[in-house]
Amino acid sequence: MSNQNSDQLHQIRHSAEHILTQAMIRLYGPDKFFMAMGPATDDGFYFDFEPLNDFKISEEDFPKIEAEMVKIVKENLPITKSEISLDEAKKLFSSNPYKIEWLESITNREEVITIYTTGQEFFDLCAGPHVNSTSEVKAIKLLSIAGAYWHGDEKNKMLTRIYGTAFDSKEELEKYLFILEEAKRRDHRIIGKNQKLFTISNLIGAGLPLLQPKGMILRQEIENYLWDIHKNKGYQRVWTPHITKEALYVTSGHAEKFGDNIFRVQGKEEKFFMKPMNCPHHMQIFTDNQFSYRDMPVRYFEPATVYRDEKTGELSGLTRVRSITQDDGHLFCRVSQLEDEISSIVSIIKEFFGTMGMLDGYWVRLSVRGPNGKYLGTDEVWQKAEAALKNVSERENLPYKIGIDEAAFYGPKLDFMFKDAIGREWQLSTIQCDFNLPERFDLTFINEKGEKERPVVIHRAISGSLERFLGVMIEHFAGAFPVWLSPVQAKIIPITDAQHEYANQVLAQLKEQGIRAEVDDRSEKMQAKIRDAQLEKIPFMLVIGGREAESNAVAVRQRDGQDLGAIPVSDFIAKIKDLINTKSLNLIK
Ligand SMILES: [Zn+2]
Ligand SMILES: [Zn+2]
Repeated sequence: MSNQNSDQLHQIRHSAEHILTQAMIRLYGPDKFFMAMGPATDDGFYFDFEPLNDFKISEEDFPKIEAEMVKIVKENLPITKSEISLDEAKKLFSSNPYKIEWLESITNREEVITIYTTGQEFFDLCAGPHVNSTSEVKAIKLLSIAGAYWHGDEKNKMLTRIYGTAFDSKEELEKYLFILEEAKRRDHRIIGKNQKLFTISNLIGAGLPLLQPKGMILRQEIENYLWDIHKNKGYQRVWTPHITKEALYVTSGHAEKFGDNIFRVQGKEEKFFMKPMNCPHHMQIFTDNQFSYRDMPVRYFEPATVYRDEKTGELSGLTRVRSITQDDGHLFCRVSQLEDEISSIVSIIKEFFGTMGMLDGYWVRLSVRGPNGKYLGTDEVWQKAEAALKNVSERENLPYKIGIDEAAFYGPKLDFMFKDAIGREWQLSTIQCDFNLPERFDLTFINEKGEKERPVVIHRAISGSLERFLGVMIEHFAGAFPVWLSPVQAKIIPITDAQHEYANQVLAQLKEQGIRAEVDDRSEKMQAKIRDAQLEKIPFMLVIGGREAESNAVAVRQRDGQDLGAIPVSDFIAKIKDLINTKSLNLIK
């Protein structure tokens, strides 16, 4: 999306918020509420107000308000800007404590206040900008209602918030509403509960999800796969403890930068940090070796859990957590080796997200220095690192955009944005060059001349974090995982008790081949068993009646509804193993 488009959309949404307020005043009169505030957001707008006396609005009132909003749009009212003095503004809004509070906070008495007026009847304090006329707001929808504290502070009054969205075409709005619906259907918190993948315990706390056996299978498969695609590329596994002396993070500089988010542990004699990141630990592993240029690059890999004290209100399911298991890795290399190493990481990322079916529409942000930022490291190193990232992006045909001034102070980076099955974007992989930590920890290796040389560090993560990635996977696949990831790959369904023995024989054969299978030996009707397996999104249901038992066969039904009929057990095993081994996204064709 170009900036012009998103600016336009922002104006449409902000104007829609004014139209909402105007519609409410028309419908209910000006004395029923105080307008507090109403900004445009990334996907719509909201309007906060204080209801007065017994005034109450619910989602049932939305059709009526929307109809009035559409009327205002059709009236094609001009939206005009005017400027007044601070004193005039205070007079104009004297009856509204929220507007007055804001005006009182302006200390410069000469400041010019802008007001936007819609038609003849409605005006509000507003910095703008807005569209020129209400008719430019082509599609409006009110979405939900919630309570919200003034300034987000629970010590303040609770206001009412209406969320809505607006677009410049009906089609765009329909598309957005479809995604909203789909997102609800795919919500990983609900699927995770229904499929018994993970648990949030009040005794343990929000943001500290527990994995159930089925969730752990998913995570283990993802982790194994990640290691599979790293181990042939020169990576070595390392392990680091969860707590550390403060000194480590004082040396790294993180204590100062992230101090607020670090959990502290009081030992009997010493204070410790729960580690908020793994980088400084890996630096210690590197530095205990006397590496020479022949050993470079050195590549460490560790799926490691870090802890960050996020605000309780922001914690949610698997995607906003306090225990974060990064599929972390650090590479130590010479500047001349940067390009090859980055290229190798990019190939890992492409393979991983290709397997997950997420390469459609992905893009990459190449963050480089800007003219005004403060950066650590020499100009020469920066130039070489930025060139290496850019060359790889070109050579690997990455759809990349350059973010000037978006580099970290310690180095340039590549961030990967992937789209899930309903087009939502997730920032997942990252490749970051770092010239800072090697300095802080005085990392060196011995070069050809027998001198100490400073390596560059590359931080990289492929899935980002295993918790968040599991959440993204649940929503991406809507709980219907590819066969290789499915916690239960086949459910064996005997039609009557007479087939239980044969069912268990089939189970043993599948298990022997490493296939995750279960027998449903409940005394339910076959149709009920099939329905339950389908709800669980199990890829294959193997129905067994007398005929199958006699011919050493299974009648295969797929979760997509396809009925493959009876096939020999050995054939089914060959077919499912092929799907598993190739990590296929398909069922049996
Ligand atoms: Zn406004
Ligand atoms: Zn790192």
